[in-house]
Amino acid sequence: MTQPLSEMTRDTLAACGVSRDLEVAGGQAVISPLTGEAVAHVATDDAASAASAIDRAAAAFRDWRLVPAPKRGELVRLFAEELRASKEELGRLVSIEAGKSPSEGAGEVQEMIDICDFAVGLSRQLYGLTIATERPGHRMMETWHPLGVVGIITAFNFPLAPWCWNAALALVCGDPVVWKPSEKTPLTAIGCQAVFDRALARFGDAPEGLSQILIGGPEVGEVITDSPKVALVSATGSTRMGRIVGPRVAARFGRSILELGGNNAGIVCPSADLDMALRAIAFGAMGTAGQRCTTMRRLFVHDSVYDELVPALKRAYASVSIGNPLETDALVGPLIDAAAFDAMGVALRTAQEAGGTVHGGERVEVGPETAIYVRPALVEMPAQTGPVMEETFAPILYVMRYSDLDAAIEDHNAVGGGLSSSIFTTDLREMEVFLSARGSDCGIANVNIGTSGAEIGGAFGGEKETGGGRESGSDAWRAYMRRATNTINYSRDLPLAQGVTFDIG
Ligand code: NAD
Repeated sequence: MTQPLSEMTRDTLAACGVSRDLEVAGGQAVISPLTGEAVAHVATDDAASAASAIDRAAAAFRDWRLVPAPKRGELVRLFAEELRASKEELGRLVSIEAGKSPSEGAGEVQEMIDICDFAVGLSRQLYGLTIATERPGHRMMETWHPLGVVGIITAFNFPLAPWCWNAALALVCGDPVVWKPSEKTPLTAIGCQAVFDRALARFGDAPEGLSQILIGGPEVGEVITDSPKVALVSATGSTRMGRIVGPRVAARFGRSILELGGNNAGIVCPSADLDMALRAIAFGAMGTAGQRCTTMRRLFVHDSVYDELVPALKRAYASVSIGNPLETDALVGPLIDAAAFDAMGVALRTAQEAGGTVHGGERVEVGPETAIYVRPALVEMPAQTGPVMEETFAPILYVMRYSDLDAAIEDHNAVGGGLSSSIFTTDLREMEVFLSARGSDCGIANVNIGTSGAEIGGAFGGEKETGGGRESGSDAWRAYMRRATNTINYSRDLPLAQGVTFDIG
């Protein structure tokens, strides 16, 4: 790297339009996993400033809900234009803060652009139904109205896209957004907010407080969680976090969308195209250094193909390039921090104690001691026990044999997470079973592609300990609006439903 990382960070943020002080005395250190060094020290919010931001958003809601939806869509259209102009810079911030490759960083921004384009179209399609009524001279319909302030809490590993899945829909639905990014990736959020502000300036007359960010950790997130002025809390992160946030929002009868951890698996059947499966598994399990919510963490391989596929996978694990993605074209970048490496070590040791054979998993020296790079680990397990049942947020793939597809699907579904799943097969029957009611119990079930890399057109999310939330495409927009059922009597009589009589003479 020719330019020092902190200087590159400042230049990149300046190119996005950020004018905020990035070296605040006593501010929170922002550590880049690329080198383990602090690239900025940012001011953080506290409970009072968070509450003020929510108040501003609540005031903005009163105006924004009255702006016609297609006009709200125009703001999102302008934002998509600004995103296109700043794609490289925002992608670079993702690399600096989350350690992703430039291609993955740019991909995340592309995902934002895609959901914005989707939301612009949606702004003319926020439709309800007209429903048959049992009463003569009546009409029944449902209408959709803006909901209120949407609080968005996001995880470090996707510092941009999940915010945008929520924000683009919320804004066209008539809802202001308050965003608390991960404390590990505040700079990407600050850069993104500056890009959004450029769109706002072009739009002209949007209310103040339409989109705000709050910098800080769980204590700031809790202000969003607990505020009755936040109508919907969309929280992305670990199941541990969801266990706290979900009940607290429910206790005040707020709405929540929970996008939590997964323990995603693939099944490789006898008829699979093994070359395709190998490439899909390698990307799904090692890509983003195993730090995607949809990372493939478990693999069930049929006995008849195990001895062909697994040695090829082991060779891929042994040879995959590991390095600083801003300096090399390495496929595997750093872990986010030392705690992630510690958790990986514990899981590998426990797997070994349970009879697993570990390939890889050792630290690889890249740059300074403070940066944590590891060789992804493939662990051959005799059975699905111990750490295989849990999501460890690191590149570990547990591989198990199977002989009966029904039993493999039972094991597949036996874990807490319910986010993403894949089957590799060219057998129509196996494919349909996997996608049927007795198949995968996940929110995402794929055939002949890996578990990660979803498109925005579909609803994204998962079941069980993944939280049950859905965001992004399909009809996920409905969560950001309130539904009203309207019955209109245009007759001269007053017939009551269900034939009830109440004659006051
Ligand atoms: P994390 O749970 O540690 O933090 C996520 C966010 O929640 C952060 O902004 C954090 O400050 C906030 N938070 C934590 N405790 C909170 C509390 N008590 N109240 C309010 N906010 C709180 O997760 P992480 O380490 O940043 O991300 C990795 C995890 O996120 C993995 O489990 C991964 O599977 C999951 N994830 C899920 C999805 C999905 O769409 N399902 C997407 C990305 C990541």
